[in-house]
Amino acid sequence: MPAMPPLDSTERATSRSQLNWINIAFIAVAHLLAVLAVVYMATVHFSPATLVLAACWYLACGMAITGGYHRLFAHKSYRAAWPLRLAYLCFGAGAVQNSALRWAADHRVHHAHCDEELDPYNIRRGFWWAHLGWVFVNRPGQEDQSGVQDLAADPLVAFQHRHFVALAFLFAAAIPGVIAAAWGDAIGGVLVAGILRLVVQWHATFSVNSFAHCVGSRPYSRETTARDSVLTALISLGEGYHNFHHRFQADYRNGVKAYHFDPTKWLVWSLAKVGVTWDLKRTPREAIERSRQAVASTPTG
Ligand SMILES: [Zn+2]
Ligand SMILES: [Zn+2]
Repeated sequence: MPAMPPLDSTERATSRSQLNWINIAFIAVAHLLAVLAVVYMATVHFSPATLVLAACWYLACGMAITGGYHRLFAHKSYRAAWPLRLAYLCFGAGAVQNSALRWAADHRVHHAHCDEELDPYNIRRGFWWAHLGWVFVNRPGQEDQSGVQDLAADPLVAFQHRHFVALAFLFAAAIPGVIAAAWGDAIGGVLVAGILRLVVQWHATFSVNSFAHCVGSRPYSRETTARDSVLTALISLGEGYHNFHHRFQADYRNGVKAYHFDPTKWLVWSLAKVGVTWDLKRTPREAIERSRQAVASTPTG
């Protein structure tokens, strides 16, 4: 096979123009501010109340991504009352991972074309591409909403999409700052509960695109690189049973066994008990067992 010729200047210019400098700058500055947040806590002001706020904000924004963006909006694995959908959309904006509409569009393409060229976070392009690199690049068709017309028709989802930047500013940093001002630590509220929490949250979510496609086992399907790992589940509020999820993406559970660590499943199930969620989709036990046995009886390699 002949060696690839070097890029000419036009091609180099094109590849430079494909970089998303807004995302690169925003993510770089956020990481610098996260380091500053640690320095602030260590040398200027340490507030246990601010740390508790950061933990609560982490859980709220994290569940908004796993239970809201992912399992409700992208996969429609259950239905939810509008106040919960609204809370998901507000706190989801606080996780600064695009609007639910854009997030679900990317994610549906990921499932439809997993490990292929069209997969936005294709693990075959490398760990760092799947983890974060894809966010730094503009993709052809990234504005395409043809796969999420059902979501675009939801007025709440459409509202969040239109006002995403303002909502992200409010829920990622401004509101934590205002809350922490109640105990005299507005700066800590913004830096620790806002930015440091956000950066940790990014890497937890991104681990589902990177670690969950290269670390763990494949008990239900070997058709994709998606893998089950309790470690990824611990990092990602239960999203680490990714082989099961890719095989049975309509299921509201990722950890299908009762003892699997899947707080998102527990939240959705608990809310169903009080009527806030309903129509929780479960894959029949026999279908799961058939897939498991089919994989077990297929030689590897
Ligand atoms: Zn999914
Ligand atoms: Zn995946």
